[in-house]
Amino acid sequence: MEGGMRRVATRMGEMEEPIAIPICGCGVPAHLRTSWSNDNPGRRFFGCKNHDSLVYQPCRFFSWFDPPMPPRAKVVLLGLLKRIRANEVQRKKERIFWIFIIILCVLLILY
Ligand SMILES: [Zn+2]
Repeated sequence: MEGGMRRVATRMGEMEEPIAIPICGCGVPAHLRTSWSNDNPGRRFFGCKNHDSLVYQPCRFFSWFDPPMPPRAKVVLLGLLKRIRANEVQRKKERIFWIFIIILCVLLILY
């Protein structure tokens, strides 16, 4: 699965993009996706769009696009992800709290 990459300019800066997209067993070009597992956070891979399909026969095509991550980078990324997720949970809790307060106020005004 020798691809090769080219550098393309995007809004986020320069990014590496595959030149050759692998074709999986069902004959369609694989999709480039990003893994968010603990072992490979942010690492991109090729997967078939029929991977979890109920219509077509599920396809187990899988091929890493990015090289393995250095252990140090993994630790840093996972730490950041954890912080972002904790932040989101906190924000969600606050939002629910305020919605509850607003509903309470509305009920108090109405009755
Ligand atoms: Zn496939």
